[in-house]
Amino acid sequence: MSQGILGIHHITAMAGVAQRNVDFYVGVLGLRMVKKTVNFDAPDVYHFYYGDKVGNPGTVFTFFPFGDGPRGSGGAGQASVTSFSIRSESVDYWVKRLKDHNVSVSGPTERSGQTLVISFRDPDGIALELVAHAGAADRPGWQEGPVPSEHAIRGFYSVTILVKNHRLTSSLLTEVMGFRLIEEDEGRYRYEIGNGGPGTMIDVISQQDARYGTQSIGTIHHIAWRVTNEDELVHWQTKLMDAGMHVTEVKDRNYFKSVYFREPGGVLFELATDPPGFAIDESVEDLGADLKLPDWFESNREAMESQLPLIYLPVIARS
Ligand code: ZN
Repeated sequence: MSQGILGIHHITAMAGVAQRNVDFYVGVLGLRMVKKTVNFDAPDVYHFYYGDKVGNPGTVFTFFPFGDGPRGSGGAGQASVTSFSIRSESVDYWVKRLKDHNVSVSGPTERSGQTLVISFRDPDGIALELVAHAGAADRPGWQEGPVPSEHAIRGFYSVTILVKNHRLTSSLLTEVMGFRLIEEDEGRYRYEIGNGGPGTMIDVISQQDARYGTQSIGTIHHIAWRVTNEDELVHWQTKLMDAGMHVTEVKDRNYFKSVYFREPGGVLFELATDPPGFAIDESVEDLGADLKLPDWFESNREAMESQLPLIYLPVIARS
């Protein structure tokens, strides 16, 4: 019997200048760079993975930094907000930290009666939230970044998508993928999957008159959902195809295996396996230190490296 889809695996976005992206996610938000590699489908662009110490599924935000280029626009058919968990005691710390780094912040505002939400954007305009809630400390976060460990980000809280009409999206989520509707509030529908709670939730905002977004720098590219292994991946691939979805073949992403499909609202979804993870080609201690390439690119390393901008990890000073 299938173990089901477990929660968010990773979220991938399109960024602008590589160094600015690193400075923000490592230097300001305090995530760990767990892998520095290239986009396997367009290897002249980096693929950065940020997460907790080992890049556990549910903590990993990844970027393709395209350098200077036209920005996309947010809209229907896209993930509109990425939300991270923080402890309830960390709200004042984060408001001050973000302001100290010249990030303009709105909130904290109360949502769902139980959480305080701080909203802001990254340097490319990607909408982010820190959601303060009880129980956030159950996940450790990255303990050795610039943010004191008690205030560290604890992985994803949820992801929000915008669609013109939620009905078909809702049917796919609940009738095929195994999500449960847990909250409904004026055009905002919250679903959870697996064990539920932080890291398993998606908010679907239904807005008939929303314009479709255009995908480029400053927008989310896709949301990946966790499955336990490759057998599960193939099981869900078949199940989704039986439900009429166009699903890709299984792709080897080196750190996980994946299939992709577009949910009916237009948002690109991926299913990704938990194993093998990021420690297959460098030690946990050294994660993110060097440019890592899959075997099939290794013979071309020199040429590939010469096309990529040099980037530096920010020097870590706690504040
Ligand atoms: Zn992905």
